[in-house]
Amino acid sequence: MTPQEVLTLCREKDVKAVDFRFMDFPGLWQHFTIPVGKLEESVFEEGLGFDGSSIRGWQSINESDMLLVPEPDTAFIDPFTDLPTVCMICNVQDPITREDYTRDPRNVARKAANYLKSTGVADTCYIGPEAEFFVFDDVRFDHRPNEAFYFLDSGEAEWNRGADEGPNLGHKLRHKEGYFPCPPADQLMNLRNEMMQSMIDCGLDVECQHHEVATAGQSEIDLKYGELVRMADNLCLYKYIVKNVAHRGGRTVTFMPKPLYNDNGSGMHTHISFWKGGEPLFAGGGYAGLSDDALFALGGILKHAPALLAFTNPTTNSYKRLVPGFEAPVNLAYSQRNRSAACRIPMYSPSPKAKRIEFRCPDPSANPYLAFSALMMAALDGVQNKIHPGEPLDKDIYDLTPEELSDVPKTPASLAEALDALTDDHEFLLRGDVFTQDVISTWIDYKRQNEIRQIDLRPHPYEFCMY
Ligand code: GLN
Ligand code: MG
Ligand code: MG
Ligand code: MG
Repeated sequence: MTPQEVLTLCREKDVKAVDFRFMDFPGLWQHFTIPVGKLEESVFEEGLGFDGSSIRGWQSINESDMLLVPEPDTAFIDPFTDLPTVCMICNVQDPITREDYTRDPRNVARKAANYLKSTGVADTCYIGPEAEFFVFDDVRFDHRPNEAFYFLDSGEAEWNRGADEGPNLGHKLRHKEGYFPCPPADQLMNLRNEMMQSMIDCGLDVECQHHEVATAGQSEIDLKYGELVRMADNLCLYKYIVKNVAHRGGRTVTFMPKPLYNDNGSGMHTHISFWKGGEPLFAGGGYAGLSDDALFALGGILKHAPALLAFTNPTTNSYKRLVPGFEAPVNLAYSQRNRSAACRIPMYSPSPKAKRIEFRCPDPSANPYLAFSALMMAALDGVQNKIHPGEPLDKDIYDLTPEELSDVPKTPASLAEALDALTDDHEFLLRGDVFTQDVISTWIDYKRQNEIRQIDLRPHPYEFCMY
């Protein structure tokens, strides 16, 4: 869409308000609104001013004036506002120099996509994320966390939840059996359909929706893969729709990776492939039908994984998901069928166009712009420096003995470990000025001060049980 087309859309749909969206540093959508009469064509050139000092992780107070410049191509009609509203995703600029702001996550992603082109390795990086999430009843979530959240083992937790709710346990999904019985066991069919339709109405290409493995309320809706920046934009809209449809239905959604002890967590498996001149570069005659470039990309992802996880698994809660027994990866290995490996090569389709790497570590608490960019840069480093991925691990990693696993590197055990890894290994992210040194150190400091330290300072509910 061009600026003119956005203005025409506003007239045709009788739009009254225009909403400007952008991503903050940790990864939540922010917005402000103007009346439609203030949307002139010049706004697309000159942008609109706002105070960047109150945005998490951004400018200090003495240099706080910033500009939001809307991307007309991202316009959509907001399905949740009473007043007809058009929304656009914006880039952030310095009002004096008119330079793109280095800490704007979307700018990092735009630079990543441009850098890939400039290397000549590929012209497009396609990304396909599978974001999972939990739907809870508002009332249950508002309630003081019940014991099942922290203390009880599987069977007990299920029994306990049932006991809380009275005697009628009919049609309730049992522990880890959410994948994927029909209604009435699946209680969220209508809600997910509403989410799916709302996504389609907003221009997203939905492939499927389903209940996920975890006991009650875990869901997944899959979007068709897309170009890196566009996919990160789409994922913001995806989360917005998921949360708002749930809210309208008296439910609440969390993309937190591990909300329930002893049940599956929520991942965001991320599929990646490189293309050039409309041709896929990851299909070939190697292991699992991969090309040499794809195997080197795997090598890059596995080599940099500990540092990469500081962006793809960026919360203290992320590492409660990366434990054995819940379909989440715990070892940094690759395999064509093994879902316990950090990288899997999906074998659903023989088509070279479908050839891709599935990185299973990421979770939906990630800032998609930064996570996809970091993943792409790791894969690109692999291709450029011919990093060999080692041998595949075609066994169920969860069944291997500690001796058999002693050579297989593990995913970091905590956010602190991932940030330490990023501290030691970020040269591959600085290339092409994609991630600046300032972005890396601000990220590390922000996470240490505002998240790790905050958790360390507080007694944990389970400490009351143990001590
Ligand atoms: N929920 C699992 C995870 O944490 C994935 C389950 C699946 O999609 N097979 O990654
Ligand atoms: Mg899936
Ligand atoms: Mg899934
Ligand atoms: Mg998957």
